[in-house]
Parts: sequence; C-alpha cells; structure tokens
Amino acid sequence: MRHEQGPADQIHAFFKDKQQAMLSLLEDLVLIQSGSRNKAGLDRMAAAVAAAMPGSMHCQVLPFAEHGNMVSAKTRKAAEGARQLLLLGHMDTVFPEDTDFHFYREDEARAYGPGVIDMKGGLVCAIFALDALAQLGLLQDLPVCIFCNSDEEIGSPASWDMICREADNAFAAFVMECAGKNGEIVTGRKGRSGYRLIVHGRSGHAAQAGANKASAILELAHKTIALEALNDPPSVSLNVGVVKGGIGPNTVPGQAEALIDIRYLEEADDQRVKSEIDRIVQASAVPGTVCELQYHTGRPAMPQTPGNENLFSHVQSQAALLGQRVTHEFRNGVSDANVVASRGVPVLDGMGPVGDLDHSEREYMVKSSLVPRACLLALSIWHCCSVAMPASLEKQLT
Ligand SMILES: [Zn+2]
Repeated sequence: MRHEQGPADQIHAFFKDKQQAMLSLLEDLVLIQSGSRNKAGLDRMAAAVAAAMPGSMHCQVLPFAEHGNMVSAKTRKAAEGARQLLLLGHMDTVFPEDTDFHFYREDEARAYGPGVIDMKGGLVCAIFALDALAQLGLLQDLPVCIFCNSDEEIGSPASWDMICREADNAFAAFVMECAGKNGEIVTGRKGRSGYRLIVHGRSGHAAQAGANKASAILELAHKTIALEALNDPPSVSLNVGVVKGGIGPNTVPGQAEALIDIRYLEEADDQRVKSEIDRIVQASAVPGTVCELQYHTGRPAMPQTPGNENLFSHVQSQAALLGQRVTHEFRNGVSDANVVASRGVPVLDGMGPVGDLDHSEREYMVKSSLVPRACLLALSIWHCCSVAMPASLEKQLT
C-alpha cells in the first residue's frame, strides 16, 4: 500500500535543501543596519522583507513619518476579513546606526551579527514557512496575516494599536522571537512597567545651606531605598536603574530623577506595586521637596492561560509529526506577545530559531535550528488554520 503524503511529509521534503537559501536571506537582512532609530535602514529592511514574501500574499509596506516603515502581508482569506492566524515579527534591532557591530559571519555551527537571533532569524523562518505553504499549494485557503513592525525594541509606540487591531481579528498568534536553548516555546511572559520619578527641591549655595536644605538628591536617595524595598520576587522585581541630578558639588541640587523598571507576574501585582509607589512618591523625607511620577513605558503581562497552553499542545502535536520534541517555558522579558495577550488572544512566542546573547555583540543563532523551526512553523500554521479549526482554539479561551 502506498503511503499518501500528508502536509508534514511535504513540508519536510520542501525544506530538505533550504538551509543555504535561508542563511543567505539571513545574511542579507543582518547586513541592513536597522537600529530602532535608523529610519533609512528600517525602510530598506521593510522593502527587503516585503520583497521576500510569497507573491500570492497581499503585501503592503506601510509608510511612517517618524519610525521605520512596516510590513503587512495577508493571504486572500485574511485580506477579505476572515478570522486570522497572526504572525508577528520585528525588523528593528537594539544596535544604533553608529555601532561598530556591523557584520555577518558564520562558523561551523553558528551565525553571528546584529539581530541574527533578535529577530532576523525568526523573520527568515516566517518568510520561508509561508513560502513553503504557498509553493506546496497549501496557503491559498488559509487565513494568515504576518505583521512586521519596526519599533519593538523601543516599546512598539507606533505599532501598538496596529498589533491590537490585527490581534482583535485573530483566533491565535505566533511571535517569532528566538526559541529557548533547547527549542522551548514561550507560553507566558512577565509584564513590565517603567516609570520616571522626578524630584524637585530648592537649589542654593552649598556653603550656606547646612543641614536644612531641600536637596532633591537626598530625597531621591530616601526614595530609592524605599522603592527597592518593594522587591518581592517572583511576583515583583523592581530596579532603580538610572539616577541623575545636580549641577556641581557646590550647589544644592534643585532637581533629580530616576528611572524605575518593574517586572511582574500578574496585573494584580502591577496594581499593588503601583499603589505602593504612589505612597512613596507622596511622602517626602526631606522637607521642601516634591515628587512627580510619570509612566514611561511598559507591556502588560502574558499569563500562561489555558488558551496558550492549548495552542502549545497543538504545536507540540505537529512537532511530533516532524520527529521533533518541544517543551514550553515562561520567560521574564517582554515582547509584542504581551500586547497580543492583553487582547485575550491565545499566543505563543519563541517560535523562531535557537540562539542566545541577544542585545550583545556576541549574539548568535544556531544554524541547524533554522530549517526545523521553519518546518514546525509551516506545519503549525497549516494545522491551526485548517485542522484544529479556529473555533476549537477559541473555545479553550478562558
Ligand atoms: Zn526581539
């Protein structure tokens, strides 16, 4: 009896000789400098990503005046408004335009370069997964949207609303950040809130002030100690990471400020710590000083919901068909998966290849992970859109 080829076999066969082509696209993308503030570079990056999308997708380069352009590509069904599977990737890196870190290099096992794993390797996986489905004739009836933004590393200020809009029309989402060291997929992430604390004091000559002075730095020192005492791991981690203030040793500092980073497990933890911070901000230890607190940046928590776990079990079942074993993990850092999660949509992150040391010049990607992750993504897209059925994924949403 002849064994009929299912999508898993077809996808596996398609990728048999694709590693070199994938690495070559990766090299092209890594060599385009695309720091979050480098609009010209990001515009080139958006053009290159759009050009690499399957021709059958409805692809648009979305122009932005102050940020890099962004890319949205949809299959016919998604373009017509069907409930969609959303793929998310970012094209920007943390490395500024004037960095010396500007090369692409490979050795036997690894590829190196700015953004190679965060997340140009993930973009390459997504592009090739869609291309595989298109060439195998499996994509045309699937409702798939891929959105690539250019401002993730600075908090997605310009793309946030667009991500929410696409997520609101999605039954599930995959985010292309790198996998864990052993290929783990991310089912949950902590949330983050960032604040700027500004202390106003009263400046004056240091020689005349004595002990009765409204020193903004002294007040900030008291506040820093009180804020750091709010640390309560694992539910809350708080870090006063930057302090500035004063103009010289002979002057009572009239102003000082601090940047505060908070990571939390659940929204209730965020609210609790915020009310504690408000209490600390209002009470002053140094008479004559006043404080103000500004919300700076952040992303909501991505809890490990039953919806995420159900989506993971679907992906895990597809991995088994490809002879892969995958597990899932909770990650401390934030990504755009947090934004999707805040819309109540089942989402998995870490769907990209394996790598590590991102945000450093030692960033690398494991070359041998590129093809297996693209296979897994392609099969998972096909399965979630056609077999698992959007409805059964949504039913698990609680
Ligand atoms: Zn990233």
